[in-house]
Amino acid sequence: MPFWLLAQTEKVDLEMIYKIKQEGMNNSKVEDLAFVMTDLSGPRLTGSTGFTRGSEWAKKKMEEFGFQNVRIEATRDFNRGGWDNLKTYAAMTAPYYCNFACNPVAWTGSTNGLIKSEVVIVDVKSEADLDKYKGTLKDKIVLLPSTTTYEISFEPLASRYTDEQLKALTTESGSPRGRRPRQPFDIAAIMAQRQLRAKTTELMKSEGVAVILNSSGTYNIPRSNGAGYNSGDPEPIAELNLPMEDHGRMERLIRKDVPVEMEIEIQNKFFPSPQVYNVIGEIPGTDKVLKNEVVLIGAHLDSWHGGTGAADNASGCIVMMEALRILKALNVAPKRTIRVALWGGEEQGLNGSRGYVEKYLVDPETNENKPDFDRFAAYFNMDNGSGRYRGIYLQQNEMVRPIFEEWLKPFESLGCSTIAIRNTGGTDHQSFDRYGLPAFQFIQDEIEYGRGYHTMMDTYERLVIADLRINAIITASLAYNAAMRDQKLPRKPEMRPRSESGQRPPMF
Ligand SMILES: [Zn+2]
Repeated sequence: MPFWLLAQTEKVDLEMIYKIKQEGMNNSKVEDLAFVMTDLSGPRLTGSTGFTRGSEWAKKKMEEFGFQNVRIEATRDFNRGGWDNLKTYAAMTAPYYCNFACNPVAWTGSTNGLIKSEVVIVDVKSEADLDKYKGTLKDKIVLLPSTTTYEISFEPLASRYTDEQLKALTTESGSPRGRRPRQPFDIAAIMAQRQLRAKTTELMKSEGVAVILNSSGTYNIPRSNGAGYNSGDPEPIAELNLPMEDHGRMERLIRKDVPVEMEIEIQNKFFPSPQVYNVIGEIPGTDKVLKNEVVLIGAHLDSWHGGTGAADNASGCIVMMEALRILKALNVAPKRTIRVALWGGEEQGLNGSRGYVEKYLVDPETNENKPDFDRFAAYFNMDNGSGRYRGIYLQQNEMVRPIFEEWLKPFESLGCSTIAIRNTGGTDHQSFDRYGLPAFQFIQDEIEYGRGYHTMMDTYERLVIADLRINAIITASLAYNAAMRDQKLPRKPEMRPRSESGQRPPMF
């Protein structure tokens, strides 16, 4: 073998991998962390009291595990401000009584105590439709017509990747789960729809509507989302997401001229939200020079407010904290610093991780690198639900493939060895990847993710504890390898100077 090939061979400390597996399997704290991060912390909407509670619990656990430099760190202003839901009750009272599970839309307002009123449909298909509702909506409960149709599903509720699907993932494009490709967006139609919705909202506001009702999602579980609200704006009308079946029942009754009445009480609190916060802890590096370099592992701590954000993304926080705990318990002396970061504000635009980049890596004003940019070794992110790692996405960084091939070898028997060249998006690794930094997200079994995330059913029950244990072991191993490697992981070359365009590179 020629020398240069030998020199490229990755060294993996298999004794250490053995120890990591033993610690992760026999002394796992995943179950305890799962309880703390879901049931005990509760929902963790960005800017809410729940988020503060969750970040304090995470900090406490990190301190208990003996991490160092543990801190809750402010990163960015949060334009929406603080919002807490204090009370939600909704029931149909005519033609007969039936209570509904429901979830208020975040950053919307309250009812004036317990109200009882007629439910009316406001069906606006064009601006001309607005006129016919003028003068008719005072104190009414407005039901906006369904936008989705329920389809009976013959698919299993949960799934794992098959070998064929994993293989399909290794090609540059394609749809691994055999789904229909997404329809291209019709931007003009979306904009027109938005404008019409804004005008409808304006009319409802001026009319004095009491509550707005939405059908939520394709399943019988209210989905959580938030209003387009900026701190200081007037409070939007109280708004509820209802299960599509309850919403559908009332819509059908009203369309058949059966009068429908509801009683509703919603109490929400708006307050100035200081900032977006991240929770950070670390095992400091021990090499004289390399200790200033950072291997980062992370997940987002914030969630939507309906459930307890278990799969999305307490699961990732549990795995990342457990990964660092395993290394700490083994008393490793990594050359580089290994840092865990739990991000705030991911759901409203990756605020926590982007704030971290702005604070430590790239000056947001000048687009110039900060000194830590060169000391950034790698980032590993988990945010695809509770499912087991099946491999990793390269984000098109072919240079790391031979390294990851070696690093994942000890986990082949656990089914985690697929390496996909493609990009995967939608979460915090993008904040780093957009600057060419080596930042990666794992391929994970879907389990019930597509059905449950952002809904009221994203609770402890969605967690697959056995999978989370394995994910923590793999994360700990990869982080350890990255911290011990002679060189940092290879980066993508920058194709054009950032300052030339005066803009940041695009997000993928
Ligand atoms: Zn998420």
